Amino acid sequence: MDHLGAMLKDHLHVIDPSFRRYCLLNSYMETLWTDGRWTEGPVYFGDSRGLLFSDIPNNRIMRYDETTGVTSVFRQPSNNSNGHTRDRQGRLVSCEHQARRVTRTNHDGTITVIADAYRGKRLNSPNDVVVSSDGAVWFTDPTYGIDGQYEGDKSPSEIGASNVYRVDPSSGEVAIVADDFVQPNGLAFSADEKTLYIVDTGATHVEDGPRHIRAFSVDGSTLSGGEVYSVCDVGLYDGFRLDIDGNIWTSAGDGVHCIAPGGNLIGKILVPETVANVCFGGVKRNRLYMCGTTGLFSAYVGTQGLPYF
Ligand code: MG
Repeated sequence: MDHLGAMLKDHLHVIDPSFRRYCLLNSYMETLWTDGRWTEGPVYFGDSRGLLFSDIPNNRIMRYDETTGVTSVFRQPSNNSNGHTRDRQGRLVSCEHQARRVTRTNHDGTITVIADAYRGKRLNSPNDVVVSSDGAVWFTDPTYGIDGQYEGDKSPSEIGASNVYRVDPSSGEVAIVADDFVQPNGLAFSADEKTLYIVDTGATHVEDGPRHIRAFSVDGSTLSGGEVYSVCDVGLYDGFRLDIDGNIWTSAGDGVHCIAPGGNLIGKILVPETVANVCFGGVKRNRLYMCGTTGLFSAYVGTQGLPYF
């Protein structure tokens, strides 16, 4: 199996001894695919043993097949899709830069628009998305997909701000839930859905700007709090997932960082490329998929992702 790289232990940076429990001594850093330009948005389908992920500048969604090891095109053009998740019915939910919308791919393959505007103004370029257990769709809307021609179409922001939104599952109404971000990005709930973690990658647009994860208290359809939970020490956090122990496994400039409950960085998986997003997969949810700049990587770790997407 020539995709097997160095042993995972050779890619680990243990900061706190508590990280060692997650380090499998006989696990590999696997390079699964290397033909992307900027990979993002991994989402796992245990029912079809595959991983979908975006190759944003190449305007396509790729699919890695866990049973064959083959990566192939799932959808092209993809409207420069970015983040993906699955709703509680298992359907694919996608952020699309170019079309400036969030969509759902139905079980028969047809596509339904979930959100493309706020109060009559087009969204910027939805970046990442999660669905809560009540069916509400929460997504971030920074400007990366309209800043230039590489990851979408260069366009002005109609809204004039980069907000976090919630789409009501009953009415379909799009509401702002956070409006104090420079560039909101990845987001994920805690297991009990009482906390919503949201990244601000504002440092890309503001000198010495935010490069951190904030933690919000969730009360039904509203958020409160929003204190800084963890500051990235290399590059930027972008997309992330939580495991069953409450750790955040997040992308960063030097690979993947593991942040323990409370916010302490306990260890890193060092990846040869800047990592943009991660998700757990494998039949036991213990395989960490990592979207690097050009490549898709994976490693089995000593924990499991939360049983949602
Ligand atoms: Mg992102």
